[in-house]
Amino acid sequence: MGESPAEPRCSCGHGRGHVMVSPEPEYSGWQTFVVFFMGVTAPPKSLSYRCRVCREVFFKTTDPEELRNHT
Ligand SMILES: [Zn+2]
Repeated sequence: MGESPAEPRCSCGHGRGHVMVSPEPEYSGWQTFVVFFMGVTAPPKSLSYRCRVCREVFFKTTDPEELRNHT
């Protein structure tokens, strides 16, 4: 569904939209504190897409548009 050939994939062929792939938000130090200790949501510094089957991080983005979707 709307997948382009340029879509990044892990070794076992899972793309970003796959059910076995989770975006892992990365926060800077102070953001981690704010998010986890004060319950405030802040956009992460970056998103790492990791396949839960092969444990490979095959795509990482710092695109603000994409980060906002995961706030
Ligand atoms: Zn994989």
